[in-house]
Amino acid sequence: DEKSELLKYKNIIVNKNGRLIEIAANIGRKEEVDLAIKYGADGIGLFRTEFLYMDKETLPTEDEQFEAYKYVLEKMDGKPVIIRTLDIGGDKHLPYLNLEKEQNPFLGLRAIRLCLNRIDLFKTQLRAILRASVYGNLKIMFPMISGLEELRKAKGILKEAEEELSFQDIKYSKDYKLGIMIEVPSAAIISDILAKEVDFFSIGTNDLIQYTLAVDRMNQNVSYLYEPSHPSILRLIKIVIDNAHREGIWVGMCGEMASDLSMTETLFEMGLDEFSVSPPMILNLKKKLGGTYEGN
Ligand code: PEP
Ligand code: MG
Repeated sequence: DEKSELLKYKNIIVNKNGRLIEIAANIGRKEEVDLAIKYGADGIGLFRTEFLYMDKETLPTEDEQFEAYKYVLEKMDGKPVIIRTLDIGGDKHLPYLNLEKEQNPFLGLRAIRLCLNRIDLFKTQLRAILRASVYGNLKIMFPMISGLEELRKAKGILKEAEEELSFQDIKYSKDYKLGIMIEVPSAAIISDILAKEVDFFSIGTNDLIQYTLAVDRMNQNVSYLYEPSHPSILRLIKIVIDNAHREGIWVGMCGEMASDLSMTETLFEMGLDEFSVSPPMILNLKKKLGGTYEGN
């Protein structure tokens, strides 16, 4: 039954052909960290912070955010936690921001673009994340990066947030790692350049497929064209993994494709280092990857 299987696989680390593969969890709300722990996640591979903003009528304060990030970091007890900065826009709205209505929201002021347009909001979030860094193993991740300048601008704001905290004598750890999502085709194509700027990549296949194949991920009329195993997608994934490894950084995947068991072997063979999936899928993935196990 599920309970005994859970116990069997829980503290197990997948070690296949001498490679340690991390099986992490995607979470949306801080309470979901309990599910990640229950199912034996090696870390949080994606904490979608937008729910902190969407569950409210106004922007969450720095302290409110700090408490949420601290909660997840403490619960994970030293295991890595990737906190993704705000990904609003596209299909996710914040009415209280009063943003202009757009013709093509998925191609518009979304995610990091919105954050670079509203630096006040971005910096508040970064300060909250940095302050939480002393409570665990923090990794910060920017969504929707499409080019080098954009990444450098975001890194610049992060540096400013650090300088502010230092100046104000507010505690934070400099030990965190910084990564980006690879979910825009341009980022995948120049991943050799972007890899020199960050500590890790996480491939967001939900958007990468949508943007590469020009198929709205929400539109049922064209869903037959939404094809994770399309050769263009597989090529891009391979390019990203090879470029990352050439620069000595690791690559995870946090889009839905990571939990597609028909793709697991292919992704493993391509060299993927981490799979991040919804908590109940962790067990299936550990079983699918098989290999020899370490742990209890
Ligand atoms: C993705 O695009 O694959 C992803 C994980 O981000 P989101 O689904 O939140 O857009
Ligand atoms: Mg995405």
